[in-house]
Amino acid sequence: MSQFAQALLNWYAKAGRQDLPWQHPRSPYYVWLSEVMLQQTQVATVIPYFERFVRRFPDLPSLAQASTDDVLALWTGLGYYSRARNLHKAAQQIMAQHQGQMPSSQAELEALPGIGRSTAAAIRSQAFNQPAAILDGNVKRVLIRHQALNISSNDAKAQPQLWQLAESLLPSAQPGALDFANYTQAIMDLGATLCKRSKPNCPACPVASSCQALATGQQHSLPLPKASRTKPERERVFLLLSSPEGIWLGPDYGFGVWQDLWQFPSFASQSEALDWLAQQPLIVDSQPESWPRFRHTFSHYHLWLQPVQISVRLNGIMQASGRFTTAQDWPKLGLPKPVLSLLNQWQQQAHS
Ligand code: SF4
Repeated sequence: MSQFAQALLNWYAKAGRQDLPWQHPRSPYYVWLSEVMLQQTQVATVIPYFERFVRRFPDLPSLAQASTDDVLALWTGLGYYSRARNLHKAAQQIMAQHQGQMPSSQAELEALPGIGRSTAAAIRSQAFNQPAAILDGNVKRVLIRHQALNISSNDAKAQPQLWQLAESLLPSAQPGALDFANYTQAIMDLGATLCKRSKPNCPACPVASSCQALATGQQHSLPLPKASRTKPERERVFLLLSSPEGIWLGPDYGFGVWQDLWQFPSFASQSEALDWLAQQPLIVDSQPESWPRFRHTFSHYHLWLQPVQISVRLNGIMQASGRFTTAQDWPKLGLPKPVLSLLNQWQQQAHS
């Protein structure tokens, strides 16, 4: 077994995280769900979401049978909603194609929506104790520092080298032991708890004696910074229609990554919003009131949001799908984070 793997396994037995909710039991469903939730998100944030999710959907069949609204409601605030939509679709696919059993081969796992090479390997190693290397952001940072590679984590040309390195360091199989499962958790824990992006805790690190970055004083400067790229900016007007029955939300105003989520009617400009409003069966009781404009950042662009509030009363049947909602409805709906924060502001204002 490589010295690196042995040192990590010894450290994991003493100091690794062994009480995470998805480790009890370390079932394929729990591992898969946690891996998807942990993409772009830290453990401390994920734990309460994971616990709520498995209380509502304790197993794969219950997730497959759920409505999209119910799944998205439990994802509200976690962001990157395509993860939830893919999870839901994959559960249905597993029921239809794999008799409800999570597959255990790399090819079958990667054929499911939302599962890429590293997530498939994380499921194989942790749920099935197979020799499969993962390569998430934490692992890349550990490997780049340990080998003192002069690259950034997202350097496209270096990815094959990083995969090869990750595979070469895997432990060898010990009969009866859960070495592959523990090794995967150990290398993720090392990146998350000691070999952190800023201020790596090298004195406590189990692989410090062989770390090339530490030996050459580069532990703070590697990986190299990612090539910076200016994100484009977009604009959107949110129409906050408030009435004595509540505030209007609908499931069909989604755009981009917010498809299927409930939100305010949204438009490219205020004049477009007011034109739409004029065609609705609504009595308008107030002038439009612009709330402070704010920016929400997605992975590929910045979105400037301009909320405009108007008091209305219904005078017929709205053609758009949706309804006036109150605070009792919101926990049951999938809501983008900025929408939830505007709803809370509206609620505070209405009761002040
Ligand atoms: S010695 Fe420091 S830089 Fe090297 S792997 Fe350990 S924590 Fe990271």
